[in-house]
Amino acid sequence: MAKFTMISDTEWRERLKENEYLVLRHGATEAPHVGEYTNTTTEGVYRCKACGAELFRSTEKFDAHCGWPSFFSPLAGDSVIEIDDYSLGMHRIEVRCATCESHLGHVFEGEGFDTPTDQRYCINSIALDLEERPVSDEESDGGQEQASQERESSRVSAS
Ligand SMILES: [Zn+2]
Repeated sequence: MAKFTMISDTEWRERLKENEYLVLRHGATEAPHVGEYTNTTTEGVYRCKACGAELFRSTEKFDAHCGWPSFFSPLAGDSVIEIDDYSLGMHRIEVRCATCESHLGHVFEGEGFDTPTDQRYCINSIALDLEERPVSDEESDGGQEQASQERESSRVSAS
């Protein structure tokens, strides 16, 4: 597999369309409500536009009315990386693809959304490619469920 983190800026510019390049490689944000996947409810897996890694699933997508595709959890805990972002005079958590380190969007939490995590992965539509395919909840035993199961079992053994 190609080492996506070794790809030069010049090559990224050639690989991606101008708008994709500015968002993915330079952290730009696409305008709200214009993205292809903003209101998409199609079942499938959202891949990184830059490297094809699987990042999010339709089963964790929810309508946050914010103008960008929103997910309450990534597909797996290690599919994205989160970085402190102090740009624009505020502290936000930037979300990047763990495979190619391209910028995807930001994650916000504690906003009161009625989701299992109360997190909102606010992702640029242009950074994603939707692969339409059936996704079941069976696959969803990612980090969080596993962690709660582990807590469950340690509680049982402690009592
Ligand atoms: Zn990527």
